[in-house]
Amino acid sequence: MSKYWSKIAAGQRPYVPGEQPKDRKYIKLNTNECPYPPSPLVLEAIKEAANEKLKLYPDPSGEDLRQTVAEYYGLKKEWVFVGNGSDEILAFAFMAFFDPGSTILFPDVTYSFYPVYANLFQLDYRLVPLREEFSLYPPDFYDSEGGVIFPNPNAPTGNYVTMEMIEKILIRNPDKVVIVDEAYIDFGGETAIPLIAKYPNLLVIQTLSKSRSLAGLRVGFALGQDGLMEGLNRIKNSFNSYTLDRLSMAGAIAAIRDESYFQATRQKVMQTRERIVPILRQMGWQVIPSQANFIFISHPVFKAEGVFTELRQQGILVRYFRQPKIDNYLRVSIGSDEEMDSLLQALTEINP
Ligand code: PMP
Repeated sequence: MSKYWSKIAAGQRPYVPGEQPKDRKYIKLNTNECPYPPSPLVLEAIKEAANEKLKLYPDPSGEDLRQTVAEYYGLKKEWVFVGNGSDEILAFAFMAFFDPGSTILFPDVTYSFYPVYANLFQLDYRLVPLREEFSLYPPDFYDSEGGVIFPNPNAPTGNYVTMEMIEKILIRNPDKVVIVDEAYIDFGGETAIPLIAKYPNLLVIQTLSKSRSLAGLRVGFALGQDGLMEGLNRIKNSFNSYTLDRLSMAGAIAAIRDESYFQATRQKVMQTRERIVPILRQMGWQVIPSQANFIFISHPVFKAEGVFTELRQQGILVRYFRQPKIDNYLRVSIGSDEEMDSLLQALTEINP
């Protein structure tokens, strides 16, 4: 606490990111990055963009990237908003669409940035309990006072809701914005994008950090009808003049265009997930069904925190959340086959 802080700064309980340690080489299964490198075409595009034009400001609204995303999803570019990772877009969306004094809803448990933003923007929120195996029950999100947000698939649990369920939530919140955070949608879930044309209250947010191996580039995008895009732009333009830098935009365009690389990468991650889940179950681990690039696991005998510490000592990082309801679970990102084999080996050694 410093005497120089504003009341807002003093009142924050900021998000604690997963570790990015430098002390030794770890098998990193703790922050849901992709184990595979970005498409070679991305690296080429960034090298090509690293030229004297860097002396010029980038295109303020990222037209080319928005056009590329729009074409990819068959929408018009006016319905695409791009930002520095989906975290930035989420912050803008909280500010643009939610009001202090009107309670917003999100699941208990969910992405831990949501309560941080709600607190930062002085919003009231209600944590909606999840049902069996952390499943989301749509009627719990009907008739919200201030709006709804949830990840699909959910984080850190990995389970997902169908487009039909999302449609019901949209219908039952006609005057409120429903934000579907699809950071992990490319690993087996069903995107809500086809609903956008029908529902002016739907905002879908995606990222290039996971399925396109570009967490380090910081590119995300949001899709929604004109009213929502205008809201986001009002907020963005009150914060900065330039959406993304030239290198990020060049890399992102190349990533979205390299469809075969994208398909191969996400298929590989899904295959690895499907291979290791039954093995873990055989070893006595309970695994929540996952449509994401991570799994959420617990063990009837071993304490999650102890396993986390022991894996760390062996050079394997997974995510442990010291928080109610999930403090006996570990979230494990899907790495390469070799990395997952090392994890299985280490877990076998932990077994008595
Ligand atoms: N939403 C969810 C549910 C996430 O887990 C993450 C990753 N931490 C993000 C959004 C943010 O991703 P990024 O800012 O890298 O696009």
